[in-house]
Amino acid sequence: MRVPFADLGLSGKAIEGEILAAVGQALGRGAFVGGPEVQAFEREFAAYCGARDAIAVRSGTDALAFALRAAGVGAGDEVITSPLSFFATAEAVSHVGATPVFVDVDPATALIDTARIADAVTRRTRAIVPVHLYGQPVRMEPVMALARARGVRVIEDACQAHGAEWRGRRAGSLGDLAAFSFYPSKNLGACGEGGAVTVGRGQSDDPDWAATIRLLRDHGQSQRYHHDLIGYNGRLDAIQCSILRIKLRHLDEANARRRKIALAYDHALAEVPGVRPIAQAESVLPVYHLYVVLVERRDAVRERLAAGGVETGLHYPVPIHLQAPYRALGYRAGDFPHAEWIAAHALSLPMFPEMTDEQVAYVVERLRRAL
Ligand SMILES: *Cc1c(COP(=O)(O)O)cnc(C)c1O
Repeated sequence: MRVPFADLGLSGKAIEGEILAAVGQALGRGAFVGGPEVQAFEREFAAYCGARDAIAVRSGTDALAFALRAAGVGAGDEVITSPLSFFATAEAVSHVGATPVFVDVDPATALIDTARIADAVTRRTRAIVPVHLYGQPVRMEPVMALARARGVRVIEDACQAHGAEWRGRRAGSLGDLAAFSFYPSKNLGACGEGGAVTVGRGQSDDPDWAATIRLLRDHGQSQRYHHDLIGYNGRLDAIQCSILRIKLRHLDEANARRRKIALAYDHALAEVPGVRPIAQAESVLPVYHLYVVLVERRDAVRERLAAGGVETGLHYPVPIHLQAPYRALGYRAGDFPHAEWIAAHALSLPMFPEMTDEQVAYVVERLRRAL
């Protein structure tokens, strides 16, 4: 048997016909940038997240950068985030001229250790970016309480958490603003690049962030060829929006299947010594963008799994503070021991909604042998 890490193609899937029809309609309409498909997707995605508004943009990276700028983050500011994330989380902070300040993760959940954030706050702290890593939301209560007390903004990095819930509320509604990616492998994936910013309900004031982000994504134009600020070409096209509208209708079902697969892994792996899955907190409904286990001699285990036909991933093998551009900030190995330990021991097992029960059992069996 061969088990791929994920399965992103549409062919043969139930959704294929629906997507081809939607794309056909969008092509016929001839509105490729902006227009009714984009507006409809924004309304539907905001409603799905329980957010006040959603603004479709070109990527998750742009979503983070636009949210930071709308929140007033710029040169000289500091933004607190996790060193265990995709590089773009910190990259976006640097793009707006600010400096990322890392806080170590909780060794059980791999999420930013909320108890340590307060120690990292300085006079220059302007925002906190909690990353809902692997599809599990960060415990937002202490983060929001701290942010309110210190007058800083909270921008969720929800790029791996479409549909995930914390205390019954969805990612994208929990902070001031949130960034989503629709990169093809995400739980809600486009057939190309895509992203969105949502306006959350975290703190009750809203200085019209959505309007600012709509300007930023379109060269700062309030009217054609009249530019209020220096923005970007950061729009999401109508064809991707037409595809995302269809996929959004199937997202809950796909996330439910991911949770079932995760439960099957949890049960089976409980019997396998030497494997520790990432822990899930009680107050969350995770969406398992990834199913990650911690194992000793990770790279050898990974090679043996590959030899047995099981494809795995590493998320992420090098924490952000040890990446070349951020070493220049003075970070070194040993600064964030939990993030570094997870980076060296985390192995992402195959996880995709179309995965069969037989494939799950095969992965578990191969992992048992590889250990
Ligand atoms: C995918 C991802 C991003 C970046 O999204 P892009 O659409 O690829 O730009 C940012 N943060 C996290 C946690 C991600 O997983």
